[in-house]
Amino acid sequence: MMYDDTIAAIATPPGEGGIGIVRISGKDALLILERIFVPARPGSWKPYRMRYGHVVDRNGTSIDEALAVFMRGPRSFTAEDTVEISVHGGPLVVEQVLQQALAAGARAANPGEFTMRAFLNGRIDLAQAEATLDIITARTTAALALAEAQLGGWLSHELHRIRGLLMDPLAYCTALVDFPEDDVETQDITTLLTAAVRSLDALVATAQQGVIYRQGARATLVGRPNAGKSSLLNALLRIDRAIVTPIPGTTRDTLEETANLEGVPVVLTDTAGIVESADPVERLGVERSRRAVALADLLLLVVDGSTLPAADDDEIVALTRGRRTVLAVNKIDLIEGDDAMRERVASLECAYERLRGAPFDATVAVSALTGQGLDVLGATVARLLLGESPPADGRLVTNVRHRDALARAADHARDALNGVRRGVSPDLLAVDLTAAINAIGEVTGETVGDDLLHAIFSRFCIGK
Ligand code: GDP
Repeated sequence: MMYDDTIAAIATPPGEGGIGIVRISGKDALLILERIFVPARPGSWKPYRMRYGHVVDRNGTSIDEALAVFMRGPRSFTAEDTVEISVHGGPLVVEQVLQQALAAGARAANPGEFTMRAFLNGRIDLAQAEATLDIITARTTAALALAEAQLGGWLSHELHRIRGLLMDPLAYCTALVDFPEDDVETQDITTLLTAAVRSLDALVATAQQGVIYRQGARATLVGRPNAGKSSLLNALLRIDRAIVTPIPGTTRDTLEETANLEGVPVVLTDTAGIVESADPVERLGVERSRRAVALADLLLLVVDGSTLPAADDDEIVALTRGRRTVLAVNKIDLIEGDDAMRERVASLECAYERLRGAPFDATVAVSALTGQGLDVLGATVARLLLGESPPADGRLVTNVRHRDALARAADHARDALNGVRRGVSPDLLAVDLTAAINAIGEVTGETVGDDLLHAIFSRFCIGK
């Protein structure tokens, strides 16, 4: 499908920068370029060759010096004729270049519209289009690597293969419906269906880890005042500060930050004053803390390793009952000698487990002050969040939407397989098989409605 109109947008982030880029895509891209850009040296446009010149307004007055390149469809991001104009990166100058492009016949692009065209023009499938968004929003190198792999197309290829496993049985069942049984050669479709079910189940299983790498998880620190919660939170953030950026759209405050724990983006929340209070301001804190505990995928019970359990510990320990919890014995730097330290940690673990009435998922000895044990704590949290499944090979389903669609596909394929074994009529088998194929198509984009497409692409920024 080719579009009639030509779209334009600023492709670089808002604000001041070294370079600002305006991107134009569609059948009139070159025409519009010729209207608004005067090359320093005359001559015709050669694709993929950058030219120096000036962006000019209607009267031929220069707006800025610029570099421009023309890419001939289908060899471009959108698979359409595309132009990129680079100017100095000031918000006003970039906006003026965009305005010239619009005045010359382009339409302002919607969020994600360039990527949507790449998808609708068949250059990439929906899973790959979504991967480009994941690349932009990736918060850890692990999440980035998974998104790059998905853009590379492994998921698309795997789904294409599984679809093939289902198409043959569907063709067979349809033939049995349409023609007398004697005319159709008997075929055993259970082998193909078994392979399809297995492959779909395997993909769905990878989502347990994949979704956590992409979306992250929440860990909430609970403990008595002065146990060292906020010190520990800050120390965990420092493990890998450089490549962690806050999740867009989340409120940032001093009590909540994202840490990169072995590639897993973990939102750490500190709970100050979780024990009931009469003070209204403190009560707000209590409310928020209780919510943070309720939302957490994992709790970190932080205790002061230099003191003994106290009477008021019970209320805090109660929060961890029935919840996945790591006991972090903090301030071990205050304990002299390794043996004494181990003994202390073991006796605190024992005391708190008795109080809790159940063992912890792990116990880690740390010092927020010296950094001792922090890497073990980070790895322990990451391992518990990811589960005990086999190590990631980069081929993980990372998207909840994909996981849910593939789980449905697996169920329909399983129904078909059981149906064959029970001797269900071919028209009913065909219904299950079609449903399975359609569910796969929701991931690759073959069978998605406009509403869903709109919802997916509207999460992109304008210019992507
Ligand atoms: P919170 O109330 O649980 O958030 O505890 P803080 O993080 O505010 O720490 C309380 C006090 O304990 C502060 O004076 C910290 O400097 C100190 N502290 C925290 N962690 C450690 C640690 O690992 N070792 C030592 N020696 N002191 C610590």
